[in-house]
Amino acid sequence: MTIFAKIIAREIPADIVYETDTVLAFRDIQPQAPVHVLVIPKKPVVSLDHARPEDAALMGELMLACGEVARQEGLDVGGYRVVTNIGNKGGQSVYHLHFHVLGGRQMSWPPG
Ligand code: 5GP
Repeated sequence: MTIFAKIIAREIPADIVYETDTVLAFRDIQPQAPVHVLVIPKKPVVSLDHARPEDAALMGELMLACGEVARQEGLDVGGYRVVTNIGNKGGQSVYHLHFHVLGGRQMSWPPG
C-alpha cells in the first residue's frame, strides 16, 4: 500500500483541497513552489505508463481536476505547470499516479 492509498483511506492526514468520487487533490508535504498540489486518482494506477484504454475517462477527469485546482488556487491568471514523473529515471518516488500542479513562481526550463 502506498502512502497515497493511506491518504485516500484517511489513514494518514493530508491537506485536501479538491475531491470527487474518482479524484483527490492535496498539498505536497515538501512544496517545490508557493502552490504545490498533487492530483491523484482514487484508483491505484501505478503511473501514467500503467494507464490503459479503460482508464481514458479517469485520465480526462484528472486533467480537468488539475485545471480546477489551478483555478481554485488562483494560478490560471499568471500560468502554472502540471507534471507527472514516471518510473526511476523519471524521478517518481511514490508509485501511485499523481500530477504535480505547481505555481506561484516563475518556472524554468529545462526541468532538472
Ligand atoms: P514524485 O517524486 O513521485 O513525482 O512525487 C511524490 C511527491 O509526494 C513528492 O513531491 C513528495 O513530497 C510527496 N509526498 C510524499 N509523501 C507524502 C505525504 O505523506 N503527504 C503528502 N502530502 N505528500 C507526500
